[in-house]
Amino acid sequence: MTITKEKEDYNGVSKEKVYEKLVQIFGSTNISQRAVDLYPYSYDMTECEPHMPDFVVIPENKEQLIELVKFCNTNIIPIVPYITGNNVGGLTIPEKGGIIIDFSKKMNKILHINENMMYALLEPGVTFGQLKKHLDTIYPHLRYSYPYAPPYAGVVGNAILSGMNNLSCKIGSMGDSINGLEVITADGQIARIGSCFYGKDEADKDSWFCRYPMPDLMGIFVNWQGMTGLVTKCAVQLWPNPPYNKTFLVLVKGLTDVAPVIREVGKTDVVDDISAVSTEVVKMTVEIPEPEKYPGEPDFAALFPISGKTKKLLDAKSEIVLDKLNELKKSGKNIIIADVDEFAKIFNLRVRCHLDLPAVLLSLVEYSGLTWFGSYAPTHKLEHLIKNVDEIFHKHNVPSFVYMKIMKSGHYGIFRPIIRYNKYKEGEEERIHTLLNEITEFCISEGCIPYKTPIWMTEKMRKKINTGWLHLFEKIKKCMDPNGIFNPGRWNT
Ligand SMILES: Cc1cc2nc3c(=O)[nH]c(=O)nc-3n(C[C@H](O)[C@H](O)[C@H](O)COP(=O)(O)OP(=O)(O)OC[C@H]3O[C@@H](n4cnc5c(N)ncnc54)[C@H](O)[C@@H]3O)c2cc1C
Repeated sequence: MTITKEKEDYNGVSKEKVYEKLVQIFGSTNISQRAVDLYPYSYDMTECEPHMPDFVVIPENKEQLIELVKFCNTNIIPIVPYITGNNVGGLTIPEKGGIIIDFSKKMNKILHINENMMYALLEPGVTFGQLKKHLDTIYPHLRYSYPYAPPYAGVVGNAILSGMNNLSCKIGSMGDSINGLEVITADGQIARIGSCFYGKDEADKDSWFCRYPMPDLMGIFVNWQGMTGLVTKCAVQLWPNPPYNKTFLVLVKGLTDVAPVIREVGKTDVVDDISAVSTEVVKMTVEIPEPEKYPGEPDFAALFPISGKTKKLLDAKSEIVLDKLNELKKSGKNIIIADVDEFAKIFNLRVRCHLDLPAVLLSLVEYSGLTWFGSYAPTHKLEHLIKNVDEIFHKHNVPSFVYMKIMKSGHYGIFRPIIRYNKYKEGEEERIHTLLNEITEFCISEGCIPYKTPIWMTEKMRKKINTGWLHLFEKIKKCMDPNGIFNPGRWNT
């Protein structure tokens, strides 16, 4: 049930006056305060508590946003930047009401592709599907790195939240792939960060090529969940799109043996991505809704995509991966190497969705609720994490759904227990939250660092984070957002 606290005025300005100002800035067809339009922005897939915004606006350009930010800053009106709300952390739920800025409708242009330095300059509303189509049609020799998020989710939202995608074993977190940002800060100033910082008013479109070596101000906006300013442009790195591709599907028996397998394959330094999921997830993919793992079945399945500019290079990479897998077998690991293309043909073409990203993974979104503990994790603890989280899942009678990645050849990993659930079944959100809460407590105590954090999660993290970090964080937030207008409440601010 959505909880709506009607606000009649903000710091002395009536809601009516706010509406008039918004009409003046955006035009009456690009704003709404009708409950029917606001409702979709009040909740997301997770069990995070819903809250209605007071207005939604659809911007077309940064000039409108500068005027909006100045007005909201003077009158202390919350603003929540929104792209498609697919973050799975309640990050765009307007905790304190205020104005949703929906970038997806009109600020969604691919502004420039620089083929030479391989980057794309994007407005915030560009989606994965849109970028993929654009590259495949006009620049087929270039590729981006895609998550398991649906094609209608936002590229910039994923990058500024340090997403982990299907080139992550090679390139690491998507936050590292940002070359430049254009942002509007609380005083209505426009700042361009990265090599695009030259140029008084506008940057040369070919100047968004890197982020260093000036002081790196990007960190003030990356992972801040829209709490420090509004991103209006973002340049992300692209990569050569090699013509030769192959994916190894490896099934691993022995609950925790998948950990050394993915760690070791990561270190071969030849795979594009490594993602491993519990067997139950493979069963979900082949349309078993509430799957169980039976004794003797493999515990995990891992995908290792490789690519090469020539067939020879692909074969050489294949050989390296196979040698490593055989070495692991000899050392006692129970590994089955399957042909993923045949597997997909035999069992269900849905499996291809995991290979041909971006795609809608029905097993993730077919229920009304989806929630997770997504974290950056120390890879030496994966065994311990898998074992304990599996026990927690079983204790709560929920199928194990663990998803892991190895990032940047093994510098760090991703550990993400996922739960799908029926949002509208009486008591189900509470039941699922109890399970997730237990998983969170355990994983944080083991040093995992959750990303895209709901407020209840940052509250737990704060108890563990050193006070120096917290003071610095509060000081930066205060400096960037003195009146607390940007996505207030996030990170318990
Ligand atoms: C089924 C499913 C699977 C997924 N799998 C993965 C996965 O494998 N890997 C992965 O990394 N992610 C995954 N995700 C998450 C998803 O990729 C990203 O979080 C998503 O792309 C973010 O984009 P969005 O359009 O949803 O952003 P939103 O949720 O709308 O916004 C994200 C955050 O950015 C802020 N924000 C939005 N616009 C701006 C702006 N202009 N300026 C400043 N701040 C802004 C918002 O306030 C919010 O805090 C998955 C999501 C789903 C639903």
